[in-house]
Amino acid sequence: MRELVSIIIPAYNEAENIPVISRALKDVFKTLPYDYEFIFVCDGCTDNSLDVLTNLNTQNPELFFIEFSRNFGHQLAVKAGLDHAHGDCVICMDCDMQHPPSLLPDMIAKWKEGYEVVYTIREDDKRLPAGKRLSSKLYYKFLNSLSDVDLDAGSADFRLLDKKVVNVLRNFNESDPFYRGLLKWIGFKQYAIRYQPGQRHLGTSKYNLKKMIRLALHGVTSFSIKPLYAAAYLGFIFSLSSLLYIPYVLYALYSGQEVSGWASIIMTIVFFGGLQLIILGITGIYLGKMFMQSKQRPNYIVRSTNLKQA
Ligand code: UDP
Ligand code: MG
Repeated sequence: MRELVSIIIPAYNEAENIPVISRALKDVFKTLPYDYEFIFVCDGCTDNSLDVLTNLNTQNPELFFIEFSRNFGHQLAVKAGLDHAHGDCVICMDCDMQHPPSLLPDMIAKWKEGYEVVYTIREDDKRLPAGKRLSSKLYYKFLNSLSDVDLDAGSADFRLLDKKVVNVLRNFNESDPFYRGLLKWIGFKQYAIRYQPGQRHLGTSKYNLKKMIRLALHGVTSFSIKPLYAAAYLGFIFSLSSLLYIPYVLYALYSGQEVSGWASIIMTIVFFGGLQLIILGITGIYLGKMFMQSKQRPNYIVRSTNLKQA
């Protein structure tokens, strides 16, 4: 019996890219001695992605889709794919050809060598705008300095997972999973492959600045409570320094020096007001996470699928 490779592809309004990537993947598998299934997760698409998928399915019985009832986001689309995949190994990749299908044979070869997680690292892409490259570098620096897992700069959501790892991940019931971090956290035998990212084939990036900031905050707050410690340390530092400052103020007052302080008072109020709000916000994010998790709502809702539950 040939082994089965499942490919999970989150797709949010990717009607033009779906036929391109399925053709490219089929071509890759022509040269490989494996059976395959493609699982497209239609993440609340508002274009005709679903029609494209159902059409393609009539000629390609190994092509499956899971349609969400609304947009739940890329990470949850990956989760749905993992929950439903049948493969001996599972490969997650984007729909827009930025994750080159030509890398699949190498990834599968590493899996056959015994690695249970084969993840990929994007080489710095000189064609991307300098702003995006810099923000991506800063993003990882920020994330690693604040959190307890060390992510590689440029690590992508393009990876192969052994069935064992998939089974472990299925049992995670995080309401807001962050797979790049989770996979570092769970261990297993891992191997990194470097690759040159392709250009997005068609359409536009579905990640806007708001989503990226959310992902960054989420990456930090899912893996560490360092920001809470940072808040407490800041509190200590400022209370201690105020202990030094208060005697000086008292001395100035009693020695009859004129105390003029409108500017400094306003600055102090504004500065500490801001600081307190930030710290309150950080605490709030953790509290919010507990609230969301405590409701135990399903992570995503499937509207339709042509897959059987794995
Ligand atoms: N995606 C998704 N839901 C979303 C946003 C994106 O399923 O809410 C998918 C998208 O269709 C693509 C992948 O996630 O297959 C990565 O998105 P994109 O290419 O827009 O991100 P970028 O490559 O710019 O980081
Ligand atoms: Mg992309």
